[in-house]
Amino acid sequence: MNSELPAYQLKFSAKRRSIQLKIQSGQLWVCAPAGCDLKLIQQLIMQKKHWIDKHLQQQQQTEAGWLEQGQIPFFDDKLQLKIVQDSVNQFSLDGDCLWLQLSHRNKMDSQHKWIEKLVTGFYMQQAQLWFSQQVLHEQQRMSLQSRQVRVCNFKAKWGSCDSSGLLSFNWRLLMAPAWVARYVVVHELAHLVHMNHSKNFWALVAEFNSDAAKARLWLKQNQHWMQL
Ligand SMILES: [Zn+2]
Repeated sequence: MNSELPAYQLKFSAKRRSIQLKIQSGQLWVCAPAGCDLKLIQQLIMQKKHWIDKHLQQQQQTEAGWLEQGQIPFFDDKLQLKIVQDSVNQFSLDGDCLWLQLSHRNKMDSQHKWIEKLVTGFYMQQAQLWFSQQVLHEQQRMSLQSRQVRVCNFKAKWGSCDSSGLLSFNWRLLMAPAWVARYVVVHELAHLVHMNHSKNFWALVAEFNSDAAKARLWLKQNQHWMQL
């Protein structure tokens, strides 16, 4: 049995009459009455050690998602989420901050759904702009012509290309570094020539994107956290 005292954050409060323990943000927080004997606090922590260990472990296993962390990845950067109550539900980007306005008319238990909806809306909007621009650039380099660029909420793929020249991209690619997303653009454009993953297809991708192998590996290794 491990008898070591767990690390904890201690706060004294004049209003408290008893010692309170809670697990939050992966840490043990102790709130104690002002002037409370430190020995008493440590004694209580040791008594509750089993409960503390169990809950700390549980929290690590259900590692907080991006929204719970209050920040989201955006290419190589992180955007801080700033939530304010307002009369409408909408998002706006201001430097490194993504402001989320939540309507005070929203039901209390739907707030999280609204946050997710607004953040997804932000990604979709940015992805449409970014992929449209990248496709224009890359198709010129590759002497190809697509018909339309679309952003999708794919669950299990990064992009697609149909025989009519419609290219679709997963908005979650904006959580990856730009060089990774650029590879997917070249990949889908190459399907305008080869509607398969043949040797010739991969040769064409490699001709226009030297990061292809690295980017595929990156996506495989990181896809698990590329979601809200
Ligand atoms: Zn493909």
